[in-house]
Amino acid sequence: MHKFWSTMVRRTEPYVPGEQPNTQDLLKLNTNENPYSPSPKVLESITEETNQLMRYPSPTADLLRAEIGKRYGLEPDEVFIGNGSDEVLAFSFMAFFDPGKIIRFPDITYSFYPVYAKLFDIPYEEIPLEEDFSIPSSAFANSPGGVIFPNPNAPTGIFLELESVKEMVVANPDCVVIVDEAYIDFGGESAASLIADFENLLVVQTTSKSRSLAGLRVGYALGQAHLIEALIRIKDSFNSYTIDRLALRGALASFQDHAYFSEKTMQLIRTREMTTERMSALGFHVIPSQANFLFMEHPDIHAADLYMLLKKENVLVRHFDKQRIANFLRVSIGTDEQMERFLEVTGKICMG
Ligand code: PMP
Repeated sequence: MHKFWSTMVRRTEPYVPGEQPNTQDLLKLNTNENPYSPSPKVLESITEETNQLMRYPSPTADLLRAEIGKRYGLEPDEVFIGNGSDEVLAFSFMAFFDPGKIIRFPDITYSFYPVYAKLFDIPYEEIPLEEDFSIPSSAFANSPGGVIFPNPNAPTGIFLELESVKEMVVANPDCVVIVDEAYIDFGGESAASLIADFENLLVVQTTSKSRSLAGLRVGYALGQAHLIEALIRIKDSFNSYTIDRLALRGALASFQDHAYFSEKTMQLIRTREMTTERMSALGFHVIPSQANFLFMEHPDIHAADLYMLLKKENVLVRHFDKQRIANFLRVSIGTDEQMERFLEVTGKICMG
């Protein structure tokens, strides 16, 4: 604490992102990045756009909003673009949650939610997941201040059926329910189809995972126009140009190349299923995942030890030193070749 720090800074407990080391020959399976490059059309568009770097980007991101809207049967004014979905989530906390009104999220979930809650002084209640780590949707009914959860959940990878999502939205008519769909393209079903019917539903997605654009920083929110307007008001009271030209153009090209997106997503799902089967054969309890990562534990090797043993072999995964999940590892899905290497190293460790 420094005497010059504001009360806001004093109450922060910043998020700690997964390591991004520069080690050579590292098998990096710790931050749920996509192992494939983005579509070649993204790279072409970005190169072309570099001619325009002397000009400010569009503050309204109209072209990209229209393109994303088209994909979900929504109007451009039902789409908000942000600098990664983390920024969209931060703006959403400011736009829809109030100090003094308790919001709810699961006890095991994306660890940025409590960080935003502290930053914006929003009280929260952590709803315990069921024994099998599924989300108890009925426990979220009539939340005083709002609801937020990822679907599929992170770090479990478990998808909550759309029917249950709908029940949560119906059971909270007086506050906003935010569904964070960062991993939705790997087998889940988006709640975007419910937007026309529910004025209190905000769906947040990202190009970081299924579109291989983690480095470009483009996330977005889908919701009825009055919710989107609130997000725009926050953004325009903060920074008119949160998305740079290269990001706007690259993300647009990514949405325009649907064939590439489908092919890579399907390949990743196949690799996930193969890895699940082979890890189970090694004795791991692997939670069935609808995301681009697996959450797993071994009955005989503690996750903290396994994390270190893998690290020694230049394989980086994620371990959360947190109650209930301390014996689990989260492993991002890479290419088939990368997962073969992961399986080989893990197999050797398990043989002792
Ligand atoms: N939501 C969840 C559940 C995530 O795991 C992540 C990635 N860390 C994000 C949102 C943020 O992703 P980005 O800011 O790259 O869009």
